[in-house]
Amino acid sequence: MDPAPDPSPASEPGDPFPGKLLFGKYSLGKLLGCGASGKVYQAKNISTNQTVAIKCINKSKIVKSGHVAQIEREISIMGRLHHHPNIVTLLEVLATKTKIYFVMEFAKGGELFNLIEKHGRLSENLSRRFFRQLISAVRYYHSLGIFHRDLKPENLLLDGNGVLKVSDFGLSAVAGQTRNDGLLHTMCGTPAYVAPEILGKKGYGGAGVDVWSCGVILFVLNTGYLPFNDANLMAMYRKIYRGQFRIPRWVTPDLQRLLKRLLDPNPETRMTVDEIVRDPWFVKGGYADGGNFEEDRREEKLMTKLKSKSFLNAFEIISFSSGFDLSGLFGDSCEGFYEERRLVSGVDPEKIVGEVEEIARGEKARVARVKGDFDVEVVGQNGNLLAGVRIYRLNEETVVVEIRPYERGWGEKLKSVGSGHR
Ligand code: AMP
Repeated sequence: MDPAPDPSPASEPGDPFPGKLLFGKYSLGKLLGCGASGKVYQAKNISTNQTVAIKCINKSKIVKSGHVAQIEREISIMGRLHHHPNIVTLLEVLATKTKIYFVMEFAKGGELFNLIEKHGRLSENLSRRFFRQLISAVRYYHSLGIFHRDLKPENLLLDGNGVLKVSDFGLSAVAGQTRNDGLLHTMCGTPAYVAPEILGKKGYGGAGVDVWSCGVILFVLNTGYLPFNDANLMAMYRKIYRGQFRIPRWVTPDLQRLLKRLLDPNPETRMTVDEIVRDPWFVKGGYADGGNFEEDRREEKLMTKLKSKSFLNAFEIISFSSGFDLSGLFGDSCEGFYEERRLVSGVDPEKIVGEVEEIARGEKARVARVKGDFDVEVVGQNGNLLAGVRIYRLNEETVVVEIRPYERGWGEKLKSVGSGHR
């Protein structure tokens, strides 16, 4: 592997660098990419010569940004997903006092998204191949009660043989996180891929949300563009909410039918994963190249039995031995400092701005209107930016409120905005 200079301008003192030996075991190579939670480097296990990918996360950064629970979730989720052929395997988790390292299976082919960017839309056969691999992964982790919630082409990687690997479980929800009604209530995901029910107020089931995202991905694979897109975010939200999209005429009738069933704005009538695997377009040409789920499961169960013990032991040792202690990070007291939050509200936008103004006044800050009336910033006495609040009208009675804390504590201070509970 040739170590290349780290091209990221955001390097900080103490950051790993190409050529550095981590834990006397992994020689770091080039930077592969930057995610929301940290940088990902290519690396080599010097005793086995195995190439791996290592995600490096600064502990202080995740504490400051309130991503602690998210990282903890990612570790536990990836540890539960044992060696599915279409899911990036977590090999081990290492940590120092300041950093956490996720050592993962290396996906040599990079992001599936790059393939579309480079070559444009994929043929129906190739789209089907990737879609089957995606569904095989989704079906597997749903069977474990895990929902991804942020499926998008950027999170779909390819290995050296062009096999799809789902990565990035940062936003995943485990079934245990649902409220009493069995539904998830946090709004997350990337706007273009979020399901309409996430924009609704009632909570949603994780499985249907993933099916929706799979529908958006299948659309992008086959057409090269997004089904719901608009330079104006509010207009995009509206299109998603109404399930308004157009399928090009050249798409075959079977695929058109499937896309309409996947991108059904009503989660009650939307296709389920079990229905997808019986769909005529999906099964066309046999199911073999997508991986046989039942066969995968049998193999998986065996692998789980063999591997879970050693993984858990390694993880426990790393987590709980001194010097490698992650547990102190995982208290919830630091959560939510800078985390952007979106919520759906039935409160009038003018009233929401009023609520922000009242909170700002109490903190000796002021509210500045940025663009129009419903895009405001909270500004401190020194002119420092404390938070941003933007309101989009979805329909007559519903708005999406985006709250962006820029300074510590402002996520908490603006917690009640738009909730109608003041
Ligand atoms: P993430 O933080 O997981 O979104 O990763 C950021 C970027 O790093 C991805 O978009 C990929 O380009 C790259 N990357 C992440 N994981 C891997 C992996 N296992 N193998 C190769 N590249 C990866």
